[in-house]
Amino acid sequence: MAGQVKDREAFQRLSFLYQAAHCVLAQDPENQALARFYCHTERTIAKRLVLRRDPSVKRTLCRGCSSLLIPGLTCTQRQRRCKGQRWTVQTCLTCQRSQRFLNDPEHVLWGDRPEALLRIQAGERSETTTAPVRQSPTHSSPPS
Ligand SMILES: [Zn+2]
Repeated sequence: MAGQVKDREAFQRLSFLYQAAHCVLAQDPENQALARFYCHTERTIAKRLVLRRDPSVKRTLCRGCSSLLIPGLTCTQRQRRCKGQRWTVQTCLTCQRSQRFLNDPEHVLWGDRPEALLRIQAGERSETTTAPVRQSPTHSSPPS
């Protein structure tokens, strides 16, 4: 199947970019711009092909600026407890955007999906054609 081969190639490219971003930060923690570029490219490809990625990968990419989120380096990580569930709250140090996820990976999958779909739709339909509402002039009765 041609589609499966294409998908596998895309996944290989994605994982290469993801690993490259890790390598960049491992070699030079200051070089966050390059790591961000890799992750941004990774996200762009994944979004275009509508590929479902591993939640563990998605967790480590900032939704705001595509930074590779490494606790203590590019983000802070805190544990929160809410309604008996444990959440991890990550705050990106580059754009200050925080995202949280349940420590149960199944719940993360659920939570991620609708937002990802919304994002794709929002990106495609950036231009909305709204016809200008024209108001008919009110006829004032002429003075007699
Ligand atoms: Zn960010």
